[in-house]
Amino acid sequence: MNRTKILLIFLIIGLIAGGTWLDIGQYLTLEEFRARQDSLQNLVDQNLVAAVLVYFLVYVTVAALNIPGAAVMTLVAGALFGLLVGTVVVSFASTIGATLAFLLSRFLLRDYVERRFSRAAERINNGLKKEGAYYLFTLRLVPIFPFFVINMAMALTRLKTVTFAWVSQVGMLAGTVIYVNAGTQISRIESTADILSPGLLGSFILLGIFPLLAKKSLAIITMRRHRKQFKKPKRFDVNLVVIGAGAAGLVTAYIAAASKAKVVLIEKHRMGGDCLNTGCVPSKALIRSARIASYMERAESFGLRVDNPGVDFPKVMQRVRDVIKTIEPHDSVERYTKLGVDCIQGTAVIDSPYSVSVNGQTISTRSIVIATGGEPFIPPIPGLDDMAHWTSDTIWDMSELPERLLILGGGPIGCEMAQAFQRLGSTVTLVEMGPRLLIREDPEVSAAIAAQFTEDRITVLTKHTATRFEARGEQKLVYCSAAEKAGDNNIEIEFDEVLVAVGRRADTKSLGLENLGIESNPDGTVAVNEYLQATYPNIYACGDVAGPYQLTHAAAHQGWYCAMNALFGGVRKFRVDYSVLPWAIFTDPEVARVGLNEEEAMVQGIEYEITRYNIDDLDRAIADSEATGFVKVLTPPGRDKILGVSIVGPHAGDLIAEFVIAMRNGLGLKKILNTIHIYPTFSEANRFAAGEWRKAHLSERLIDIARRYHQWMRH
Ligand SMILES: Cc1cc2nc3c(=O)[nH]c(=O)nc-3n(C[C@H](O)[C@H](O)[C@H](O)COP(=O)(O)OP(=O)(O)OC[C@H]3O[C@@H](n4cnc5c(N)ncnc54)[C@H](O)[C@@H]3O)c2cc1C
Repeated sequence: MNRTKILLIFLIIGLIAGGTWLDIGQYLTLEEFRARQDSLQNLVDQNLVAAVLVYFLVYVTVAALNIPGAAVMTLVAGALFGLLVGTVVVSFASTIGATLAFLLSRFLLRDYVERRFSRAAERINNGLKKEGAYYLFTLRLVPIFPFFVINMAMALTRLKTVTFAWVSQVGMLAGTVIYVNAGTQISRIESTADILSPGLLGSFILLGIFPLLAKKSLAIITMRRHRKQFKKPKRFDVNLVVIGAGAAGLVTAYIAAASKAKVVLIEKHRMGGDCLNTGCVPSKALIRSARIASYMERAESFGLRVDNPGVDFPKVMQRVRDVIKTIEPHDSVERYTKLGVDCIQGTAVIDSPYSVSVNGQTISTRSIVIATGGEPFIPPIPGLDDMAHWTSDTIWDMSELPERLLILGGGPIGCEMAQAFQRLGSTVTLVEMGPRLLIREDPEVSAAIAAQFTEDRITVLTKHTATRFEARGEQKLVYCSAAEKAGDNNIEIEFDEVLVAVGRRADTKSLGLENLGIESNPDGTVAVNEYLQATYPNIYACGDVAGPYQLTHAAAHQGWYCAMNALFGGVRKFRVDYSVLPWAIFTDPEVARVGLNEEEAMVQGIEYEITRYNIDDLDRAIADSEATGFVKVLTPPGRDKILGVSIVGPHAGDLIAEFVIAMRNGLGLKKILNTIHIYPTFSEANRFAAGEWRKAHLSERLIDIARRYHQWMRH
């Protein structure tokens, strides 16, 4: 805990102790007020503004410090200021006081609670993300929930402060009016408990839960209406129909078949989906050729002579296709049929929650898994539609290396392709509207990749937005506006071919989801709950079509949950767990990450320490002439628990695995430091990073004792 927090805790304890000693509570009672009512009323009559101001400040303090007495103060407002002014003053004072109490509790306690109960905290936060405002409204409206408990409990979550403030103000308004109104008749009140009759309390409870009930009931009614349309069959042809044979669908079908369920897998295009045919596999095969090309360029620095080095692009692309062919059997109809999966080639349509049709055949099924993946997003830039353009779906059909390649998008796909094509011989210009490449990573990661791109002679134009495409005879042009060049909307870039890599969106077309009323998220992905159930509890979705990740291993991970929940959900349901999910970007140097990066920690207000090891110091990296990059580890201050790791460097995608295992199993940096790593390997970088952490946390006292001990031993 940092010094500010400790000081603040002492200050609060001091205030509470002082308050108790002075017996402040005695002034916040009905009796005390009645005894002083006339003199206080005189003061109010003499100077209403000053009285309101003083009252307001006292109320805010009472509420912010959770001092008992807010109910009495609310009555007093009615007695002194009347219903209207009293309500307005109390409404704002109580909201400001509650928000201050909320911020104080959040500052002091939230990090600790999240660290200590990370899984539960994540679950609660996910629930609150969707319905936090409703819950808070209910709690505020029902006056049986103590004011300070709500402030503190909400402070421990990730509910936004603005949401907390406005929902609190609206939610407390009715109660405030009742109390202030009662205060106008204060002489008749014996105790604050008299104000709410059981009937009134009941109405509040009903009013409080009404919005939540209304929302849930509406969802149930809509669902019933949809379900009524669809008759549940008495018997099902199969246990499970899986739509889409990419990473998500294949794993789902595999698990279902392994657990002896009757499962049908429907694929409209190619088995293996994006990853095998147009994604991970071809891109990595192309990157390999590009890497060898870059080694050829550097051959002399290794003491090698390569006469006439060159790139035979059609052969490079043939190798890419050969690699796909070699891996294809892993995902083939033959293999899956042997495993016990009934594979059907065709486009699936969901007719009802219990039936799917394909090639004119209708299959009745107990559960359905939607695993239809995603497709490249084509932005609506004028002129782009009229111009031939490449996407990650089509680029693998390219037969001639473009001289000048324009790439739209500086995310993982754009960056990987930009470097690969430049190294194969194209002159690449990468246009990115954001302020830097790889925006999800820390700025220093982006900077490291940008520096390498500069060395590769790639033109990187960040903060540039493509506004129009134009063909002038043989010439192709894009116009860009640059964020930092005010008024200059006409930066012209000539190119021969363009690759659009500005993102991917869920592919749900032709599935018939609209007819079933299956909900989707604003980004087009199918809306699923923590069990990956879509709007209907027997329809699941996983992979790119469900999000939130667009990664093969995330899709496969979700596939397991879908299969288990669809087949065994009646006995036990599994909540999908994304807690330690790593990824890599296969540029040179590679980028890999697991857990939090520095930007995320800052945004989430999580305290952290950075430990860094620079790979340019690593023996193996120097021997390989690959001495670039860093390992950056985030830990809580003073502790070796790993919150997140970013690695930039050769083999980063492999190096991160050690941290993934450590995080998954709750092992800290000390355990990595105490593990023997082979010399000379890149994996030593992980251990050296752990060593850096250790060095920074050695106790000065212990070092001093050791120094004295050795001094003494020399006598
Ligand atoms: C260029 C590129 C490089 C990538 N590199 C990596 C990487 O290095 N590492 C990584 O983890 N991820 C990478 N990805 C992402 C990865 O490919 C995807 O996250 C992954 O393929 C998602 O799998 P999925 O099963 O959800 O969808 P998909 O693989 O897209 O499979 C969905 C399948 O459903 C089929 N389908 C759709 N609608 C229907 C229908 N109505 N009926 C029947 N079938 C249907 C489609 O034809 C498709 O085959 C890359 C992606 C791209 C584009």
